[in-house]
Amino acid sequence: MANVGEVEPIPVAPAALGEGAIWNAAVQRLQWIDIIGQRVFTYDPATGENRGFDVGQKVGTVVPRAHGGLMLALQEGFASFDADTGRVALLPRPPEHDPQVVRFNDGKCDPSGRFWAGTMALVKGPKPLGRLYRLDADGSIRVMLQDVGTSNGIAWSLDRRTLYFIDTPLLRVDAFDYDDVTGAIANRRTVISIPPGIGRPDGSTLDAEGMLWIAMYDGWAATRWNPRTGELLQTVRLPVARVTSCAFGGPELDTLFLTSAREKLSEEQLAAQPLAGGLFRVRPGVRGVPAFSYQG
Ligand code: CA
Repeated sequence: MANVGEVEPIPVAPAALGEGAIWNAAVQRLQWIDIIGQRVFTYDPATGENRGFDVGQKVGTVVPRAHGGLMLALQEGFASFDADTGRVALLPRPPEHDPQVVRFNDGKCDPSGRFWAGTMALVKGPKPLGRLYRLDADGSIRVMLQDVGTSNGIAWSLDRRTLYFIDTPLLRVDAFDYDDVTGAIANRRTVISIPPGIGRPDGSTLDAEGMLWIAMYDGWAATRWNPRTGELLQTVRLPVARVTSCAFGGPELDTLFLTSAREKLSEEQLAAQPLAGGLFRVRPGVRGVPAFSYQG
């Protein structure tokens, strides 16, 4: 095991757009995805095995299911997924969702086990076309936010009273009052503003001290922030520019796993960052909190 603070590449085949890192405590494995490669992976740190399945369309995120198996947010909508057989079962598509125009992107489950996932436009346009959806345990789907650019980084505060949300092009983290009983959100405000020159905020996760870790796309780093003050606390440098998601894992939740992308990099850029698209781990000196599972 590497020293605290030392970033270690994990020897797996690189992804075009690695994403969606989440620790699946029930099986002690890391789930992650390749959005463009249309694959869902299960990485076992104990053996080094990284098992992948082609899911036949772009996949935006993966979360564990409380009663076994996984849930996905695919280009076309929510789906259940069996990581042993690779079987995908799509749920009815939300009526507002047009997979010709938008695709599902990042998502996570809330403390009560509802699965939140957002969308983003497939082609850049003048108006943000994404939405943030909530899939409840009973299978019902609600639109929680409209006019989203690129729905990313979703996390809940330790007291379960605040939802943190990243719409990447806005270069900030917004917070909402969150009601864990009803799943309602209200009172949107900005809690972190990302200064220019350090990349764009992508995936996020909370640590055991209530601080927010954010993967910085084109920022060569994962960053740690205090969402109560907006202050940047720590920067963990990576050998790749496009850091996309982060999740604490391992038996002690003391290892931060990170995904990255090699999409749209030139030959020259790839020569400067040959590990682009790879998976990484670091022990940053703080522990994470367990990820929530879908209760449906
Ligand atoms: Ca993302």
